[in-house]
Amino acid sequence: MSETIRIHPLVDQGLKASSAQFTGGTLVCHCTERPVKIRISSKVAHDHVCGCTKCWKPAGALFSIVAVVPRDKLEVIENGDKLAIVDDTAAIQRYACTGCGVHMYGRIENKNHPFYGFDFIHPELFQEAGWAPPEFAAFVSSVIESGYSPERMGALRARLKELGLEPYDCLSPPLMDAIAAHGAKPSQVPPP
Ligand SMILES: [Zn+2]
Ligand SMILES: [Zn+2]
Repeated sequence: MSETIRIHPLVDQGLKASSAQFTGGTLVCHCTERPVKIRISSKVAHDHVCGCTKCWKPAGALFSIVAVVPRDKLEVIENGDKLAIVDDTAAIQRYACTGCGVHMYGRIENKNHPFYGFDFIHPELFQEAGWAPPEFAAFVSSVIESGYSPERMGALRARLKELGLEPYDCLSPPLMDAIAAHGAKPSQVPPP
C-alpha cells in the first residue's frame, strides 16, 4: 500500500473476534484518579466505526467505535458526579467525563426517537475483552468535515472494505430500514 490509512488503533491491525463468554463489563474513563465507571450488563449490539464529528474518539483516530446497549442495562457505579452532558440540545445526550473528556454514554430522552431505549457506548472503554467487533462503517463522508482530504476518500473506502467494514454515508441498511419503519404510520400504508 502506498499510504497508511489509520481508522482507529483497535481496528487498524484487523478486527478482534468476539467472545461467547462476553455478557457485559465495566466501562472506565481515562482519568488516573477517581475514574468514572459504568456497569453494562448486556452484550453490545450494532457495533460500528463512525466518522461523524459528534462521537468521541481517541487522539489520532479518524473514526470512533460505537455500539448500543439497552438503557436499563447501563448503570453508573462510580464517580458519576464527574459526568456532564456535552450538548443538551442534541438528539443524543452524550455524557462526558469532565476530568478527561471521554464520552461515557449517549442517551436519547425523546420517546418518539427510533432508537429510544438504547444507549450509545464506546466498547473500547471496557476493561474486559471479548466485545463484538465493529460490523460496518457509518457516516464515512463526514470525515471530510473533520478535515480529511476528499481526494483520499476512495482509498479510505477501499481500506474499510479490506477490513470488512462496509462503508456507508449514513447508517447501515438494516438500521436505516428500522428508522424508516418507525416513521411510517399505519395510516400511510395503503390497504391491500
Ligand atoms: Zn475521566
Ligand atoms: Zn458518530
